Amino acid sequence: MGIITLLSLENLNKCYINGEFIDSLNGQKIEVFNPANGEVIGTVPDMGKAETEQAISKANLAFKGWSKLTANIRAEFLIKWHDLIIENIDELANILTLEQGKPLAQSKGEILNGVAFIKWFAEEGKRTYGDIVPSNHNGQRIHIIKQPIGVSAAITPWNFPSSMITRKASAAMAAGCTIVLKPSELTPFSALALAKLADEAGIPKGVFNIITGDAKEIGEELTGNDIIRKLSFTGSTAIGKKLYQQSANSIKKLSLELGGNAPFIIFDDANLNDAVDNAMASKFRNSGQTCICANRIFVQSGIYDEFMELFTSKVKALPMGNGFDTGVEQGPMINEQAASNTADKVKKAIEQGAELIIGGQKSEHGDCFYEPTILANVNDKMDIVNAEIFGPVAPIIKFDSEDEVIEKANDTEYGLASYIFTNDLGRSIRVSEALEYGMVGVNNGMLSTEQAPFGGIKQSGIGREGSKYGLDDYLEIKYISIGGI
Ligand code: NAP
Repeated sequence: MGIITLLSLENLNKCYINGEFIDSLNGQKIEVFNPANGEVIGTVPDMGKAETEQAISKANLAFKGWSKLTANIRAEFLIKWHDLIIENIDELANILTLEQGKPLAQSKGEILNGVAFIKWFAEEGKRTYGDIVPSNHNGQRIHIIKQPIGVSAAITPWNFPSSMITRKASAAMAAGCTIVLKPSELTPFSALALAKLADEAGIPKGVFNIITGDAKEIGEELTGNDIIRKLSFTGSTAIGKKLYQQSANSIKKLSLELGGNAPFIIFDDANLNDAVDNAMASKFRNSGQTCICANRIFVQSGIYDEFMELFTSKVKALPMGNGFDTGVEQGPMINEQAASNTADKVKKAIEQGAELIIGGQKSEHGDCFYEPTILANVNDKMDIVNAEIFGPVAPIIKFDSEDEVIEKANDTEYGLASYIFTNDLGRSIRVSEALEYGMVGVNNGMLSTEQAPFGGIKQSGIGREGSKYGLDDYLEIKYISIGGI
């Protein structure tokens, strides 16, 4: 057995409520697996309604003190947390790869991306400015202030088990809110490791709480409980709709970061090498399990053959294997079910007329691995492009005109990320304004950064994370009318 450190898994098998690491009331546990080899790596508590209620009530007590601190003092706590995450990045990245499977370099990248949100919001919290608005009456003043919304809740997915937590929790905490957060049962250790470091940073008890366990039961309490004034959810559109409905009774403010069906459009006038490199990163990062993944790659007819040749040669060369092995760029999918679902989608696409260029099967590396796959001759009627694939499959659709591709790109219920590659300035502006999406990458396939508002429209959700707008999701606007002056 190796040396036990602060972030050893043996130290991360309890939830974090009110500054204490505790077990579930009934002692039940959930096993957590390594998707690269199916081994059990540890257990976490299987909590439910009672523990969730307890966490909410403690977060409510903590809110009274935390919300009264100056933004400057809250920022000092957040910066301590930030620094500890950076100090422990190697161990955090190991935990992430172990429970989620992504290559170690991508795990480090995720942690760096996520921790940047903590620093950003620590600073941004100091700028929750209000307004003084001229009144119609000499004797009146109109003051508008922003105040923390109250106790917040968050539910996060397994595909980014670290950054989804830091970008929600740091916005909430910087705004003066306390938070109760439920990570995915598939990847709870990254969350509990962040809790250990929050504890080390001296963040007051009850401000940041992590509960693991029965998603439905915990979700019902987080949405049904009147004390929670705000819920931030990242996950599938189906569960997002359920939580939206469940939150109706208590009229909570909601942020929903849901699924996507991103068009990735390459025009004849694009720089081919850039377009291919970005398509690779956008499609195959995290084995295609990101909400902003290129889901439909539209290639204009004049550049189609050249694109296919270069793209196929690069996909063929993608090194696959255990995320801990040097040089690996394609890890396992999150579980066997995910790999099987991907296989089913590809099979159906081929039955519907798609041509398999490369891949198209589970890999010899293990049950959770699916080979990077390219499908050509895809059209917009096929099922594969009408739902989120969430796997390493690139469907290619040939198109002729700008108008045609805009119409096809917008023909979806989703509206999260979209991408265009062109060297024509006018076209880049025309098309980015016409795309019905929350985010557009122009000659850029990587969108997530703390300075920019991340989020979608239509059935991809409501609200924004990151940027100056991200804080507003945790603030209420109060209008104070002062008369008799
Ligand atoms: P999911 O099944 O919706 O799960 C997300 C979270 O919801 C997990 O913590 C899950 O818990 C929990 N959950 C499941 N059923 C619940 C219920 N009835 N009540 C309350 N919580 C419940 O999604 P996923 O498969 O983990 O994640 C993939 C999805 O997330 C994709 O659609 C992807 O596009 C989306 N996503 C969106 C963004 C964005 O910013 N828009 C970012 C990343 C991912 P358990 O895992 O413990 O069951």
